[in-house]
Amino acid sequence: MKRRRDVTSPVQQAGKPSIQSLLLEEIAAHLATQNQRPYRAKQIADWLYEKRVNSFEEMTDLPQDLRSRLADEFSFGNLETVRVLGSEDTTRKFLFRLGDGNLIESVLIPASPSLYGSTSDRRTICVSTQVGCAYGCKFCASGLDGFSRNLDASEIVQQLIAVEKASGERIDNVVFMGMGEPLANFANVVRAIRIINAPWGLEIGARHITVSTSGLAPQIRKLADEPLQSRLAISLHGATDEVRNKIMPVNRKYNLTTLLAACDYYASRKKQRIYFEYILIAGVNDAEEQAHLLAGHARRLGAKVNLIPYNTVEGLEWSRPSRERQERFLSILREHGTVATLRREKGHDIDAACGQLRLQTKRSEDSAVTLVT
Ligand code: SAH
Ligand code: SF4
Repeated sequence: MKRRRDVTSPVQQAGKPSIQSLLLEEIAAHLATQNQRPYRAKQIADWLYEKRVNSFEEMTDLPQDLRSRLADEFSFGNLETVRVLGSEDTTRKFLFRLGDGNLIESVLIPASPSLYGSTSDRRTICVSTQVGCAYGCKFCASGLDGFSRNLDASEIVQQLIAVEKASGERIDNVVFMGMGEPLANFANVVRAIRIINAPWGLEIGARHITVSTSGLAPQIRKLADEPLQSRLAISLHGATDEVRNKIMPVNRKYNLTTLLAACDYYASRKKQRIYFEYILIAGVNDAEEQAHLLAGHARRLGAKVNLIPYNTVEGLEWSRPSRERQERFLSILREHGTVATLRREKGHDIDAACGQLRLQTKRSEDSAVTLVT
């Protein structure tokens, strides 16, 4: 039987929002209602994102009464690091416990030229946006236990801060490819992107922030209308409705034609090249015919294709095709003139694919095995 933690999130628990979920202008507007000096908002942002303190008490250039008042009004979001796997120069995985006991994970990926928005000297973080996932793709560990809740903006942004603190490294590329479906948590994800991108926040360029979606067509259009220059990756994993229907239930709601039309809208609205992610799963989506059709979709949209060999998930039957078959799929795409890469999955050995470390830890917690911290 599964153990459940009978507590609510820190935000709900205390009935107050986390200070790190607010934009600078919102902090300023809040302070204005209390007749505080206008420059106080920027001072607070500096404490949060430059000096990165862990409490209001440490904000020593604020008057004591303001610090106490802020502590009454807002919660202070911190993530507890439960586990770190991997080592320097390899993919590292971080397991965090949220205030309500839920577990989420982030992955720190060393410089890799083939990654979204990355160039050879960039460090990429893969962040989670939800606890679990409601979309239930058949191959994915994140959806196996269903959906628990959305992360708030602070819980998303704090993953970057916590990973930088724990690793001592500076992150300059962010992919929303951890646990959860980012576009199903639209408002918090957009807010988190703003904070990550802002000059007063983490100051990471929008072109180095990539949102990945399994294909929520209306939200893709909505994101296209947001004044953000972040990038978009589509988890395609199939070039026909037949293949996508088999492995991605979301395709029954938004079929390929609807999805590709939304992608087209995004690409033309933003004047950006989008990415198609395509996990290669043996005997499921790796037929040559799929490669030819995929090349056609990519050409029409000017999309770049990232092929990712499937990472096995304990308890699931899927596996990756042979290296030869992967290469053959890639060469068909290239014969059509498609810009495509084939990723040698980093971190395969430490279960780097989304949701896997959490699942493993949850399962061992459920069977009362003590955590290694
Ligand atoms: N929900 C969003 C973002 C999180 S998943 C989405 O689906 O796009 C991030 C990526 O990891 C997706 O492309 C997803 O299909 C992929 N993924 C999930 N399980 C995987 C596995 N076992 N091996 C390789 N990639 C996987
Ligand atoms: Fe959810 Fe993405 Fe996993 Fe599908 S691939 S279950 S949308 S996290």
